[in-house]
Amino acid sequence: MGRVLFVSAGPGAADLITLRGARALALADVVLFDALTDPALREFAPQAKWLDVGKRGFCHSTKQTTINAALVREAKAHDVVVRLKGGDTSVFGRLEEELLALAEAHIPYEIVPGVTAAIAAAAQTGRPLTRRGAGRSVALTTAMTREGELQAARSADTEVFYMAGQQLAALSRRLLAAGWDACTPVSVVSRAGCADALSSEHDVASLGAASMLHKGRPTVVIVGAGAAPLTGAPQGDLEADPAVRLGDYATPSSRQDLEPQGLESLPQSPNV
Ligand code: SAH
Repeated sequence: MGRVLFVSAGPGAADLITLRGARALALADVVLFDALTDPALREFAPQAKWLDVGKRGFCHSTKQTTINAALVREAKAHDVVVRLKGGDTSVFGRLEEELLALAEAHIPYEIVPGVTAAIAAAAQTGRPLTRRGAGRSVALTTAMTREGELQAARSADTEVFYMAGQQLAALSRRLLAAGWDACTPVSVVSRAGCADALSSEHDVASLGAASMLHKGRPTVVIVGAGAAPLTGAPQGDLEADPAVRLGDYATPSSRQDLEPQGLESLPQSPNV
C-alpha cells in the first residue's frame, strides 16, 4: 500500500510549482494530472508513469468518481502516487472528494500547497488583493453553481471569480444585481503567471467587453478594492524591465538549481 501526495502545480507555468511540490514529483511512481498543468512539469518526474485525467474547471472529460477510483487503484499498486492539480489543490479542485475516497480505503496522503490563480493574477497586474484600509477582505468565489448556473455575490471588499471567463457579460449583470456599483474597478486576467498572460481593466458595467480578449483561456475576474490601480503611481513605471522577467528563463530545463536533488522524503504527516 502506497501513499498519495496531492501536489499543487501552480497556475500554469512550470516554475510556479513549489520546491516541495517538485520534490514530491521526483518521488513519484505515478502522476495523475489535470488539463491545466504545464507539460514541462514532466521534467520533474521522468521516472514516473503519467496518467492524464483531463479535468478542467467544471467540464469533466474524466468523471470525478473515475478519478477517485484511479487514485485508490494506483495507491494500492505503487509506493508514491502524485495527484497533480492546477493552482492550489484545495481551491475549486474537488479535493474533498478525493480525500474522502482515500480515507475510505485507509490510504495515507499529504497535501502540498501552491499558488492559486487569484494570487498569480495579482502578481501579474501588480495589484495587491488586499489594500490597507480599503481592502480588508478577499473572497475566492466560483461563478458557477453545481448546477451550472452563473451567480455573483458581494461578500468581500475584493471578490475573485473563478470559472466565469466564458460569461463575462452575464457576470456584469449579476454583479450589478448583487449590489456592486457600476463603476467598481474590475481586473480580468487570463493565463496568469504564464508567458502569454493577458490582462485588461474594466468596470462592472463594461466587463462584457473583455470577452473576446480572454476567450477560451483560463480567466479570473477580480472585482472591487483589489482591482483598483495604485493611486499616485505613474502609468507604466511599475512594469518590470522586460530583459529581466523571471518567467522568461525560469523553466525546469534551464534552471538546474530548481531541479530536485538529494531527495530523501517529504516530511511525514499523519493524515489517513
Ligand atoms: N485549483 C485552481 C482552480 C481550478 S478551477 C487554482 O487554485 O487556481 C479552474 C479555474 O481557475 C479556471 O476556470 C479559471 O477561472 C482559474 N484559473 C486557473 N488557472 C488560471 C490562470 N493561469 N489564470 C487565470 N485563471 C486561472
